[in-house]
Amino acid sequence: AHEGILRRQSARESAARTYARALPIVPVRARGLTIEGADGRRYLDCLSGAGTLALGHNHPVVLEAIRKVLDSGAPLHVLDLATPVKDAFITELFHTLPPGLADHARVQFCGPAGTDAVEAAFKLVRAATGRNGILAFSGAYHGMTAGALEASGGAFDVRVARLPYPQDYRCPFGVGGERGAELAARWTESVLEDPKSGVPHPAGMILEPVQGEGGVIPAPDGWLRRMRQITADRSIPLIADEVQTGVGRTGAFWAVEHSGVTPDVMVLSKAIGGSLPLAVIVYRDELDAWQPGAHAGTFRGNQLAMAAGTATLAYVRQNQLAERAAELGSRMLRRLQALAGEFRCIGDVRGRGLMIGVEVVEPEAESTPGARPRTAGLAAPAGRAVAAQDQDRHPRPAAPELAAAIQRECLRRGLIVELGGRHSSVVRLLPPLTISDEQANAVLDRLADAVDAVSR
Ligand code: PMP
Repeated sequence: AHEGILRRQSARESAARTYARALPIVPVRARGLTIEGADGRRYLDCLSGAGTLALGHNHPVVLEAIRKVLDSGAPLHVLDLATPVKDAFITELFHTLPPGLADHARVQFCGPAGTDAVEAAFKLVRAATGRNGILAFSGAYHGMTAGALEASGGAFDVRVARLPYPQDYRCPFGVGGERGAELAARWTESVLEDPKSGVPHPAGMILEPVQGEGGVIPAPDGWLRRMRQITADRSIPLIADEVQTGVGRTGAFWAVEHSGVTPDVMVLSKAIGGSLPLAVIVYRDELDAWQPGAHAGTFRGNQLAMAAGTATLAYVRQNQLAERAAELGSRMLRRLQALAGEFRCIGDVRGRGLMIGVEVVEPEAESTPGARPRTAGLAAPAGRAVAAQDQDRHPRPAAPELAAAIQRECLRRGLIVELGGRHSSVVRLLPPLTISDEQANAVLDRLADAVDAVSR
């Protein structure tokens, strides 16, 4: 069955599929961290539906919530009408919101995907400010429909100005650390002050508190506060894309909480649907300039997703899984940092909570000429996990082929990991927040074996 399914689907599905190319497995059963393939093999799944499965696969609490709706005779599809299931979801969601937002927020269901909610956020800030132009950052990932609004008649064209995102390792200014973040912030200010930049007064700024697809790059808290200040001073709504970082993943319920920043709009998806498709924006109610019908859609009231999402949000909150992610994540980072000391192909290890990245570099190469002298001795911003290795070296070139080889070796050892980053050279770990210590050790053992295998 395994081979036949793989063959038929690769013959008939679009070649655009991404995960399927690197992971030739046919999942037939799953529970928690574990996926079982049609070939009878079992895998530890640190891809977690690209960070969606906060409670892992088929968590009993989530299944029970879905079953309850199915057995109750409640309608499964009612567009955006009010229902008890939606009422429970909104109540639980507002329970979790950062304090600055919870008291003055509105929610707009946008689903099914994160990218839909991003489009909605752009539309909202355009309507609210009457302006055009969006500030976004290098390496950002917000979805695959960037042209959708433009295609809907040209009236919603989104002009995007791309600004440097602060990066410690491969800092665009060659200095890293706090100084690099400061230069990135100044860059943003200068774009806003330049009438010729095309976006002196944009409708909004969108950022990820930790870039995920971009290669697991946590933004320094100080830089996030600067972005808050810069946007607040100019009445530019700040949109936090927490599609991947939300629901405890980074060690706080929402990643913006680490910096104390309150965004004007939050884009939420992935884990909020408890593994079913759901996406919303939550925003300050003053921004609610929309008229009835301004943002409609058929699939924006998925009752099963809301029920699964309510159960997930409540479980994460009641069981302090964000705290657990912070604590386990920093232990995993420490072990990975030790691994980086052993293997030259690991250039950097970074992350926040259970959102972890291991950057794979050319082991034999010299340092990139012209790259920054690393800011030796510079203290890491408080609470931010930064790798200690490589302090005295320039970053070596990214090694995407070696990263892919590590991914294959992981798969051979029954471990599913994702690749990401600007050069697809970052091995990403996004385990469920429910992963046990023992399982986390098994994940790291297999990863270490895989790195060892490609290093021989
Ligand atoms: N924003 C971020 C930060 C994401 O990581 C993703 C998905 N990886 C998206 C938006 C888009 O979500 P979707 O794939 O559901 O459209």
